[in-house]
Amino acid sequence: MSDKFDVIFIGAGPAGYVGAIRAAQLGLKVACVDAFAGKDGKQALGGTCLNVGCIPSKALLDSSRQFHNLVHSFDVHGISADNPRIDVPTFIGRKDKIVKQFTGGVAALFKANKVTPFFGKGKLLKGNQVEITSPDGAKQVISATNVVLASGSVPIELPFAKFDGKAILDNASALDLAEVPKRLGVIGAGVIGLELGSVWRRLGSEVTILEALPDFLGAADPDIAKVAQREFKKLGLEIKLGAKLGKADVKVGPDKSSVVHLTYADKDGEQSLVVDKLLVAVGRRAYTDGLLAADTGVKLDERGRIVVDEHCHTGVDGVWAIGDAVRGPMLAHKGSEEGVAVAEWIAGKAGHVNFDTIPWVIYTEPEIAWAGKTEKELKDAGIPYKVGSFPFAAIGRAVAMNEAVGQVKMLAHAETDRILGVHMVGPGVSELIAECVVAMEFKGSSEDLARIVHAHPTLSEAVHEAALSVDKRAIHKGN
Ligand code: FAD
Ligand code: AMP
Repeated sequence: MSDKFDVIFIGAGPAGYVGAIRAAQLGLKVACVDAFAGKDGKQALGGTCLNVGCIPSKALLDSSRQFHNLVHSFDVHGISADNPRIDVPTFIGRKDKIVKQFTGGVAALFKANKVTPFFGKGKLLKGNQVEITSPDGAKQVISATNVVLASGSVPIELPFAKFDGKAILDNASALDLAEVPKRLGVIGAGVIGLELGSVWRRLGSEVTILEALPDFLGAADPDIAKVAQREFKKLGLEIKLGAKLGKADVKVGPDKSSVVHLTYADKDGEQSLVVDKLLVAVGRRAYTDGLLAADTGVKLDERGRIVVDEHCHTGVDGVWAIGDAVRGPMLAHKGSEEGVAVAEWIAGKAGHVNFDTIPWVIYTEPEIAWAGKTEKELKDAGIPYKVGSFPFAAIGRAVAMNEAVGQVKMLAHAETDRILGVHMVGPGVSELIAECVVAMEFKGSSEDLARIVHAHPTLSEAVHEAALSVDKRAIHKGN
């Protein structure tokens, strides 16, 4: 086999592996280099997303949700169980099986599409060559006309709370605990902190989340964030806002068990808290360690992200970058779309990513989802808008499911009626947002959605009614 490829992807996360498959579909000779090893030490394709991110977190969210409902909310359905218990090794084992199924699935897709995988750390050398260092230290160099950097991101470590995998956890170790911690501290009330905090809270942990910022979920619509905050409180998540962690000391007892002593500052001064485990979820940083030889000409910005233009091009001939390693939201689907677009640009086709309609989803209970602009963004930009909203409390299906919490809120241009943003909190909104994204992608109006027949009784009626409510003609609520 010749070691010259049309394209080499460095990184097989959702950005790199999806791009690699698309490039192969387009007839290009493709390699994909990835260093991620699974629990068995073998190559595990799929990156953060499949191994220690989206998929395992959703597996644990689903299991813990079932357990929580059995303990706390099945009684209203007339269902009861004596002494429900959670078996943590089975709970984690199910997640591991799902991860293996999907990482193996990427390997099978590579085989089917004739993408050549390389297991090891890739380094871009000048002239579009890639040096691969395999786990046993052996080195080889392959080259290509194009190289796509898709090296993803890693969790940000706080200098005073370094990850040790035992007491101070990152996302990977928080997805792999051997037992339910009695007290779990979480630093950061972002997506990862809320999702993983929910998982362990539902299994019985006393969870305290410290968030440095004064507002809860500042990136979300405030009406949506308010509902979510109230519901998380009901779940028993203790969320302390304006609380900035300053110190985390691990103290090991004579029996080798450890506790973490936290010191944080809030409006009342210095506070302390003792927890059994601490999850640090203060964000992620682009991962480029060891990725670039000094003379490649690829630039990093002030946050360490690879600099690219709107076509994901680095400015160095034939070198592109996508996914979490570059600007834009750190979301799997954003990276995948960039991967597809770059493959198409390389093949001389018209690639496309619409950054204005990327959906955001938080898979807590209730779920939170949005796409497009917030009211604040519209106000700041001086764009006139109308608001429609509809509560799940008036949706028959949501009531029948005993999950009638939250609302859909739609923002449309005051003159053209074009949908500018949709914000949701409630049951199944991770799926409902897709309809709104389609409408926004097609530059649809609230009138368009209002005129579409929605099946009854479904949760999607909340989207329909919110669209009707933009023009004050919702049927099942006062306008
Ligand atoms: P990554 O998935 O990070 O993959 C990069 C790959 O490149 C890795 O396998 C890495 O080992 C490899 N690599 C890096 N450098 C090199 C090198 N030099 N040589 C060889 N290989 C290299 N996003 C969502 O959209 N939805 C979710 O529900 C969601 N949930 C999440 C939950 C958690 C707990 C976490 C941590 C993240 C979650 N994310 C979610 C974010 C999502 O995982 C990332 O946005 C996504 O994985 C980024 O894809 P990527 O391909 O850019 O990078
Ligand atoms: P995200 O970027 O969505 O992963 O969220 C990370 C969150 O962690 C942000 O809301 C930050 O404000 C928060 N954060 C960062 N540093 C600290 C800290 N030292 N103490 C508490 N919260 C923090």
